[in-house]
Amino acid sequence: MTLFDNPEDIACPKCETSNPLEIIYGFPSEEMFGAESSGSIALGGCVVQDDNPAYRCRRCGHEFGEV
Ligand SMILES: [Zn+2]
Repeated sequence: MTLFDNPEDIACPKCETSNPLEIIYGFPSEEMFGAESSGSIALGGCVVQDDNPAYRCRRCGHEFGEV
């Protein structure tokens, strides 16, 4: 069982690489730091804005989608 969903059906609009990192916003817990260092998620920081992207491409780093 995984802590976070892996969005395998989602593809980067730039390079079409699927399974982007999910960007998690808000103050990160130790659990979230662990997930980031193991490559499961990306941390977006504490500042939450309306237009923050939801995903970060593993290949090209492009951020896209809506939270
Ligand atoms: Zn990409």
